[in-house]
Amino acid sequence: MACPICSKPAQKPYSPFCSRRCADVDLSRWLKGGYAIPGGGAGEDEGDGIPGPNPGENNDLEDR
Ligand SMILES: [Zn+2]
Repeated sequence: MACPICSKPAQKPYSPFCSRRCADVDLSRWLKGGYAIPGGGAGEDEGDGIPGPNPGENNDLEDR
């Protein structure tokens, strides 16, 4: 697995990061609300996080 911050190979104690520094970077991003940093890093995808409710899932049971 590659470090999500700098893409280097992850190291066990800091998994999934490569170092404490990268883990720190990720943590501070979380604390600040993630992608709300103006002019921050590049390549942050917001749409890939939490899966929303699936409306098509329940229809199957009620329709019978
Ligand atoms: Zn790293």
